[in-house]
Amino acid sequence: MTLFRAALLNPVDVQSWQFLDDAGLLVLDGVVRAVGRFDDVVKNYPWEPVKLDGVILPGFADVHIHWVQHAVRGRYAQDLLPWLAAHIWPEEARYADSLLAEQRAAEFFADCLAAGTVMGMSYSSPHPTAARIAHAARRGDWVTGNVVMTANAPADLVAASVKPPADLASLSEALGRTHYAITPRFALNCPADDLAALGAFARHQGLAVQTHLAESIAEVREVARLFPQALDYTDVYDEAGLLGPRTVLGHCLHLSAREWRCLKARGCWIAHCPSSNEALDSGRFDLDSARRYQVPFALASDVGAGPSHSMLHVMQRFRRQHQAAEVRVDPEEALFRATLAGARAMGRGAVAGSLDPGRRADFVLMPRGARAQSPQAWFEDLLEGSPDELEQRPLGTWIAGHQVSTGSGRIPLEPTLPC
Ligand SMILES: [Zn+2]
Repeated sequence: MTLFRAALLNPVDVQSWQFLDDAGLLVLDGVVRAVGRFDDVVKNYPWEPVKLDGVILPGFADVHIHWVQHAVRGRYAQDLLPWLAAHIWPEEARYADSLLAEQRAAEFFADCLAAGTVMGMSYSSPHPTAARIAHAARRGDWVTGNVVMTANAPADLVAASVKPPADLASLSEALGRTHYAITPRFALNCPADDLAALGAFARHQGLAVQTHLAESIAEVREVARLFPQALDYTDVYDEAGLLGPRTVLGHCLHLSAREWRCLKARGCWIAHCPSSNEALDSGRFDLDSARRYQVPFALASDVGAGPSHSMLHVMQRFRRQHQAAEVRVDPEEALFRATLAGARAMGRGAVAGSLDPGRRADFVLMPRGARAQSPQAWFEDLLEGSPDELEQRPLGTWIAGHQVSTGSGRIPLEPTLPC
């Protein structure tokens, strides 16, 4: 049993959080047993506390990240489709090499922990071995899927891809139902028969599904050309049986009202990737419609289109991008979308994503800053900085109450504060 003492900021919902300037966080067997004002907690649990100098937040959840693109993140191009061909597919082909995959997986998870990300949903390359390697090397709570791409891609990637439904069973068994996601890369890479086979397998096995939907205008047009019988892009996945409450759809930038209603009706989640959308100039996520149609969404980096795996950076871009279009995003919502909403999207809403009693004690320690100010002002300062600075801002990361990364802590908050 460990009693931590520090300031603490805990998400509650889209509009609110709980801030405790002097909190006690009691952890037993990796799970939060009590949280509250330190004086109150220590009264019931009179343990010598472990004092942490900073502010505790729940660890971040990144619900859409391509771990096999981590080494080439931030290589921009003008549009999604040429960027994939020029930068991404040649890189992913390298993951046929298991030694390279093992080395890169270790780097990826170490970088995520240093940045405060403790859980997420990742896309692997088409090679089943690379997905197994990522699963074995994972640090934190991850759902991983090998991208299935059986058409319209370089021959080596198509050859490496699992042909649905063959071979899916051994992979889902190896990774386990809670850690494996059926992952068609997107409709352009899978003919209707293959999409239907993937949908049927996911439903039969009760597996999560992750894919991309309506990221760029050119992609939407190409889908309309290849699937002339479909009502729209969303209908392609719906017809294949891929849409349901365990489905997390990346981007969803160019949707009609019918498509929004369909996503709501199926109970799907959206992975909103603001930094990626800026980087590829894909468009702005229609936050007003997501709110109006009440389609749930969580934040994600979409590395490697997103330039950084830092969820602080993703939250920064989330707020700035929408506020530039005069759509308000409060700090409370940014924290919620990067933590508890992500855990819910992953099906972990009852066991992770916040520091309420009964949940896994996954947390990140952030610097307090130099002056007394409101939690909102502190949080806004926390999100200031370049991707490099934000990746290095955390002072440490804990999973199930055990410190797993010292963070670099080299980038203090002080320079961001007005004098
Ligand atoms: Zn993506």
